[in-house]
Formats: sequence, structure tokens, C-alpha cells
Amino acid sequence: MTSTETVSDALGVLRRVFGYDSFRGEQEAIISHVVDGGDALVLMPTGGGKSLCYQIPSLVREGVGVVISPLIALMQDQVDALRALGVRAGFLNSTQDYEQRREVEQAFLAGELDLLYLAPERLRLESTVSLLGRGKVALFAIDEAHCVSQWGHDFRPDYLGLSELHERWPDVPRIALTATATKATHEEIATRLNLGEAKHFVASFDRPNIQYRIVPKNSPQKQLLELLRTEHAGDAGIVYCLSRASVEKTAEFLSANGIPAVPYHAGLDARTRAKHQSRFLREDGLVVVATIAFGMGIDKPDVRFVAHLDLPKSVEGYYQETGRAGRDGQPSTAWLAYGLQDVVQQRKMIDTSEGDDAHRRRLGQHLDAMLALCETIECRRVQLLNYFGQQGERCGNCDTCLAPPESWDGTVVAQKLLSAVYRLATERRQKFGAGQSIDILLGKQTPKVSQHRHDELTVFGIGTELSESEWRGVVRQLLAQGLLAVEGDYGTLVLTEASGEVLGRRREVRLRREPKRAAKAPKTAK
Ligand code: ADP
Ligand code: ZN
Repeated sequence: MTSTETVSDALGVLRRVFGYDSFRGEQEAIISHVVDGGDALVLMPTGGGKSLCYQIPSLVREGVGVVISPLIALMQDQVDALRALGVRAGFLNSTQDYEQRREVEQAFLAGELDLLYLAPERLRLESTVSLLGRGKVALFAIDEAHCVSQWGHDFRPDYLGLSELHERWPDVPRIALTATATKATHEEIATRLNLGEAKHFVASFDRPNIQYRIVPKNSPQKQLLELLRTEHAGDAGIVYCLSRASVEKTAEFLSANGIPAVPYHAGLDARTRAKHQSRFLREDGLVVVATIAFGMGIDKPDVRFVAHLDLPKSVEGYYQETGRAGRDGQPSTAWLAYGLQDVVQQRKMIDTSEGDDAHRRRLGQHLDAMLALCETIECRRVQLLNYFGQQGERCGNCDTCLAPPESWDGTVVAQKLLSAVYRLATERRQKFGAGQSIDILLGKQTPKVSQHRHDELTVFGIGTELSESEWRGVVRQLLAQGLLAVEGDYGTLVLTEASGEVLGRRREVRLRREPKRAAKAPKTAK
């Protein structure tokens, strides 16, 4: 088959089956490459249109397209949606009983399927491998391919076994797809999946219709309510919280304030989760308050905002979660509130996490990158794109572009803070968090200050030029710049190697001016 034929075939399928007029971005190039039997690694942001890149070749090529996906909960929906279009699709996963599985297997063997969705752990079973061997496979699509990466944030051990597909079916093309793509993840996917010969298709990760905003957190629920009332009344959106408890509390808070909201987290039973998910998909203007368990693979085009009440653990996670906003291309908001407590808490989680040192170091690097994004005085979008190895220009549609933060020479205040930390660190027996350093700098006579005679320190009261919340901002920024670190159960501040350069006056510190009060939200660009 020549390339022109594959393209016209594919275009025909796009129009007849899916009802769309034309391909988007690189879809056409990807599809024709795979139809011609080539391997592909596709990096495309959420909402970019990855599914068609394997669905259409599965229909055009002879045999069944086998799609490996970790999203078991969504398989039924995906298959139903395809069937509604007249595509013969089925799935095999652990939610089915024997009878249901047998039906799908027979359809596969009889050549009565176009697409077969499989959970990755299925391929570990010899019975599945032998089943596939007895039918005709058109291609393997490996969805959410970043799950093979140990560097990334969503590792699934079962994905490692997928490298064997190529040995068993050397002539069947493979297409790996992901919306997560730092250079490191990208390379790891190619290596681990044995995709040495694959052609790489890297789409731009810019989502111009999403307005990125990151604000200091003081009373997160109220700040959120203000955002929803002033800018997103009646809109559908997702609010992410780190813990189940805060998911529950936030959903109740919103409901009590007249905003229809439902909780979603892994602690709810499957029926409740399914109900809340389907309400979100079908109803207008519902807010889902969720842990990160929610959203992977969810295709709701008109999500108008994604709000984070806690700091995401990585830029990849942040990008993926915020990417669920505005798939329809209409203006949407990605809003994050974060505070010093987030940093302290996440450091603690990293310190106590299971796994080896290398793993902890990786988590630490992920957090540092996220902090750098929060504290930047540059365009957020440019920072995000750079993180994914792409170039961008000042966007004019993020908080730092719309209201450029002033920067100021924070060398002296940094020295004061680091000196206080240094003094406290010499008290071996006792551990103090950031609050104690700040109280000392402000010259506050708290019981804890008196008890430890911290009012006798030379640094006591030398920092009254800043308010308490400004000092917290300084601590956050120094953490983000690696000039300070935090460790242990109490979030003890400790000096880093770079702190010495500041204390020794060999290094200048630029800080971002904190908004005095919650800054008025910039107008959403139309
Ligand atoms: P991804 O998997 O990359 O997040 P999807 O494959 O779910 O994205 O596609 C996102 C949305 O865009 C879906 O609603 C899909 O139907 C739509 N879409 C994809 N390709 C096209 C196209 N060529 N023309 C119009 N709509 C498209
Ligand atoms: Zn910008």
C-alpha cells in the first residue's frame, strides 16, 4: 500500500466513522506511518487527539488493534463509545467474569473485532499471549506509555513486560503514546519498550487557552470560593487536594456555599465513584473535588477550571492535571494555591517514603522543579515548556505575564534568615520549624521563645522590616532556590552548601515581591 492510499483511506475512516472533517496536527503523519507498519512514539498533550492515532490504523490495517491501557475503569466507557460509532470493540480485564471474557476471546479469534483493550497485567498471562498468537494483530498501542518509566510519576511494574511484545511479534507495528514527556521520561520509554527504530512524533506542549496562575495560600477554601464565584460561576471544573479528608471537607464546603460539588477518591466505594464520575461527564456545571485518582483518560471537553489546593508532586503531574481543562480550546483556568506548609509536608513524605535513596532523590528533584515553577518571576508557560524541553515566548496569558511580579534584592533578608537558621541549628537537642525562625526574626516574645531563651540570640528582632507572611514567602523562595532545605518531622530548616555563599556575601539573592493581599485575579483572556 502506498502512502497516498493510506492517507485517503484514513481520511475516509475519519469522516465516515468518527464524523470529523480533517486531521489535527500530526495525526495524519502518525496514522500513515503506523498504517504502513512503522513503530511510533507519540508525545502529545492531553486532549491532543491521541486515540485516533491508533484507532484509525486499527481499522485500516488487517486484523485487530490491541490497545494496552492501565485505565481499567474507563475501558467499558471507551468500548461503549466506539460501539456507538459502529466500531467493533471489546476489552479484557479483571472486572469481567469468565463468561464475559470468553465471549470477547471468541470474537477476537473469529476476526469480529477491530479493537481489543487489554490491561497490562493480562499480557503477563500465558493464556492471553497464546490467544493473541492465534488471532491476527493489526498493531499494538501502548497508551499512557509513561507508566513504563521509573523516573516519572506514575510507574506501573506491569508495563516493563511490554518490551517483549516486539520479540514475539516482530512484524506488528507498535505505537506508544503519552502526554508526559520530559526528555528523561521520553528516552526511558524508548529504551524500556524497545522502541529503538520508532519514529518520534513530538507535538507542542503549549495549551494556549489555559491561563496558568499560582497564588500564595492563606485560606485555601475561601480563596477557591472567591475564584469560582467571580470567574467560574456555573462552570464545570476539577479541584485537586492531596488527602481524602480534605477532598471530603472541600466538597462539603463548596456545596454548603451553593456550588454543586461531589468528592472523588480511592476511599469511596466503586459505585459512588462511578456515579460521581458519570454525573461529572453528563451534568453541566458540576465541580469534582478529587485526589489525583480522578481524571486520567477522562474526556470532558468543557472543563473550565482545574484548581489545586495542594502543591502537586511534580511538574509532570501538574501539567497532566491542569491539561484536563479546556480540551475544547475555550479559555480555561489552571489555578494553584501553595504555601510553605506544602513544602514541609512533601519533604516529610519524601523522607519517609519507601524505596531506595535514588528513588527519594528523584522525588526530591520533582519537587524542586515544581517549586521553581511556583516561585518563578518569568512567564509560567515558558517555564513549563522549557521543562518539557520546548521553547516558548512570553505568553501574555499567565499571572506573571499579566501582572509581572517585581523582584527585589533579598540578599540582606536572606542573610538574616539563614543566620537565624544557623543559630537554631547549633542547638542540637531541639528541632525547630520555620515558625520559630520567623518569630525570632520578628522579635516575638512567644512562650517557646522565652523557654529556649531565643530572645538572647543576636538575631532576635533583626527582621521587623518584613511581616510574618512576607517572611514565610522568603522561606519558600529560598527553599525553591536551593538556598535552604527542610528535613525531619518538624520541618526543621537546614542550611545547604549554597547557603554558605549567601552568608559569605559571595552570592546575591533575587526575590519575588509577594502580593500584599490576595491580588485581584487577572481577567481571563478571551
Ligand atoms: P488525548 O487522548 O490525546 O487526551 P483524545 O484522543 O481523547 O485526546 O481526543 C480529545 C478530543 O478531541 C476528543 O473529544 C476527540 O474526539 C477530539 N478529536 C480528536 N481528533 C480530532 C479531529 N481530527 N477532529 C476533531 N476532533 C478531534
Ligand atoms: Zn506567560
